[in-house]
Amino acid sequence: MDLTFSDSELAFRDEFRRWLADNQPDPAPPGADEDALFGWRRAWQRRLYDAGWAAPQWPVEYGGRAASLTESAIYFEELGRARAPMSANVLGVLLAGPTIMQWGTPEQKERYLAPILSGEEIWCQGFSEPDAGSDLAALKTRAVKDGDRWVITGQKVWTSGAQYSKWCMLVARTDPSVAKHKGLTYFLMDMEQPQVQIRPLRQITGEAEFNELFLEEAIIPDENVVGGVGNGWMVALTTLMNERAGLGFALQVRLRHLLDDLFAAAAEQGLLDDPRYADELAELHIRCETIRLMAWKGLSAVEKYGQPGPEGSLVKWLWSDTNQRLTQLAADVVGPEALTAGTRWSYELLRARGNTIEGGTTEVLKNIVAERVLGLPRLKAAA
Ligand SMILES: Cc1cc2nc3c(=O)[nH]c(=O)nc-3n(C[C@H](O)[C@H](O)[C@H](O)COP(=O)(O)OP(=O)(O)OC[C@H]3O[C@@H](n4cnc5c(N)ncnc54)[C@H](O)[C@@H]3O)c2cc1C
Repeated sequence: MDLTFSDSELAFRDEFRRWLADNQPDPAPPGADEDALFGWRRAWQRRLYDAGWAAPQWPVEYGGRAASLTESAIYFEELGRARAPMSANVLGVLLAGPTIMQWGTPEQKERYLAPILSGEEIWCQGFSEPDAGSDLAALKTRAVKDGDRWVITGQKVWTSGAQYSKWCMLVARTDPSVAKHKGLTYFLMDMEQPQVQIRPLRQITGEAEFNELFLEEAIIPDENVVGGVGNGWMVALTTLMNERAGLGFALQVRLRHLLDDLFAAAAEQGLLDDPRYADELAELHIRCETIRLMAWKGLSAVEKYGQPGPEGSLVKWLWSDTNQRLTQLAADVVGPEALTAGTRWSYELLRARGNTIEGGTTEVLKNIVAERVLGLPRLKAAA
């Protein structure tokens, strides 16, 4: 693994760094509610888009800069350095866009990609169901063909950002008579129809980031099938691979900033020389560096072998565990303020609980590492 940047990578970094210095993101509006915060992230995405920086990793023909994987990682590191917010349409840019680019028809690419990049049309991911999360292929939402359209009935859950979304990446069962991975189809579903009901789920943080979706004979035209009927599992894997690869890098950068802030808070409280805190802070620093290097190693593997290795699972597992430890220590450092609703550290502490569930639970990631990295035997499900 070579962590030295080439001249062109350095030029890319400097250009974006200069742009960020001249276009610093506005700070989050103080005391803003969820809608206002979403508006703030949307305005930031628009500024990136207007300057051609919304998704440099996208091909030039779709509004990107054809950035290499390394440049794309540099991009996320620089966004993190500038403490820029996550784009409003993060699921559209990182998940839906690349999936449509790989599997979509020319008409779908023409129709959907540009408004994803500009943030005009927000996207959500309708995968998980009450009885299908880790075992996604067990999903039950049905899609029944009716002439040149599909009628969708079922329930999705944990659908982040559905309340702001125009479109949903929806996986539904189109053939219940074949093996569970084979009877699925991937659809682009218009959220703006009365047959799609969105009910917010309030989290421990107090915000309702995600939702339940009730689909009662929702309509999807045939032209919104992606990758062919019965091929939904393969298309969904593309979305999931992009989820881990794209978000992984952004997350480790944010972790570093949170740790920097914790160091500052510990210094303010005069705790840096207290061995109990110093030891824990040092451990967190080492973990952060390990995660950063592992994320870069994962990138090298993709560049070398053309596909992601197990590093993505290790990074996700270590990141979620470290973020929980970090925010727990922050509560000790900051004291009662970190346990007071509405403060920044209390939000971080509570939000970190979901980290070991979202995007693949820690138990499932451990299975992947056990089986695919350590070569341990597969766990046989109890009869
Ligand atoms: C903040 C957040 C945002 C989310 N956003 C979205 C979204 O936008 N769209 C979407 O579709 N989903 C979303 N999800 C859902 C997420 O992908 C699922 O919660 C996750 O995949 C786990 O599925 P589940 O909740 O059904 O739990 P289950 O799969 O039912 O798991 C329950 C428990 O059993 C364990 N378990 C399951 N299988 C195994 C196994 N084989 N071996 C060992 N242990 C196992 C799990 O680790 C877990 O502890 C979000 C979740 C969170 C927390």
